[in-house]
Amino acid sequence: MKGKKLKSGEIENALNQFLKDEQHLVLGFKKGEGGVGHQIFKGSLDHYSLVNPLFGANAALYLRRLFSKGLKVMLMLRPCEIRAYVELHKLTQVEREDIIAVSIDCFGTVSSKEKKDDVPAEADKLTGYFQDKDSMRWACSVCRERRGVVGDAGVRIDKSGNYWMVPYTEKGEDLVSGMEGEFEEVPAEMLIPESAKTDKFQIDMETFNKDFEKCIMCMNCRDMCPVCYCIDCVFNGDEYLPKGDALLNKVFRTGSTQMPRGKDLFHLIRMYHVSQTCVGCGACEEACPQGIPLTKYFKGVSERLQGVFSYMSGRSFDEPIPYVTFLEDELKDAMD
Ligand code: SF4
Ligand code: SF4
Ligand code: SF4
Repeated sequence: MKGKKLKSGEIENALNQFLKDEQHLVLGFKKGEGGVGHQIFKGSLDHYSLVNPLFGANAALYLRRLFSKGLKVMLMLRPCEIRAYVELHKLTQVEREDIIAVSIDCFGTVSSKEKKDDVPAEADKLTGYFQDKDSMRWACSVCRERRGVVGDAGVRIDKSGNYWMVPYTEKGEDLVSGMEGEFEEVPAEMLIPESAKTDKFQIDMETFNKDFEKCIMCMNCRDMCPVCYCIDCVFNGDEYLPKGDALLNKVFRTGSTQMPRGKDLFHLIRMYHVSQTCVGCGACEEACPQGIPLTKYFKGVSERLQGVFSYMSGRSFDEPIPYVTFLEDELKDAMD
């Protein structure tokens, strides 16, 4: 695979060059007083950070229903964010034409809820910081793809600390061609290695009920999940989650009921809806005020199901999502 070894400051130069066009925007990270966070840059970069060691949200959330023609948006994001964007594109929720998606090698992240002042924002210091796996979010410690190998291009870091920009699509080729330097063979070994496979997820209903006991049905997990995108969620109406008279009618028909009502159904339906597109980012868990280990369930169930179809969410623009594809002989040889 060929790419360009980048000189110091080359990424910022290229992004500032891109931003000179007033119809162009960059969605990436900015260093602020309280740490690093998402930022849409217009005009020029300001306190830009290539990496973001804090996880609050998955930025693909902000791209849903982006169909604007004529604008160009460059995404400079983590692999789980680019993977979620790829899935949203396949679900016709984002127009790809206007977006250049660059994934950046990810060292892992710390939860924004547990933000510690000593988390470095520099790539060269993060490897050392995350030697202790307990300091990163659980979602990151079992991440399926931390490498910048998804989207139109990737920023990769080799073992000697050199930065590379590698194109994966025609759009990525155009972007990298415009940068300084010559195309050369990218080293096979990189700082962020290929991710290890996780164990098959299986759980009993007793543990599920225990874990979800504290759920207050605030639905933050749904609202912050980048791939849970329906405008008319079935849980917004009275059908699944009755309120007022509809609720009391139900109680008179079915008897005593634990409140909040319908939480098993809510989580199981959501799990079913996102199981083929979940990228295991843990944004749902990050948003949960009750500390419920949602990633364990959503990542666990979805990776197991995606495995049955030899599918991986967000890996490729061309790989169709199994549940929107009909194949006559599907699952003939599938093993579970
Ligand atoms: S889930 Fe993976 S890609 Fe996303 S922040 Fe964690 S390590 Fe990075
Ligand atoms: S279900 Fe949770 S882990 Fe999966 S994509 Fe949504 S927010 Fe990320
Ligand atoms: S965010 Fe937590 S408390 Fe709220 S609905 Fe989801 S699991 Fe329940």
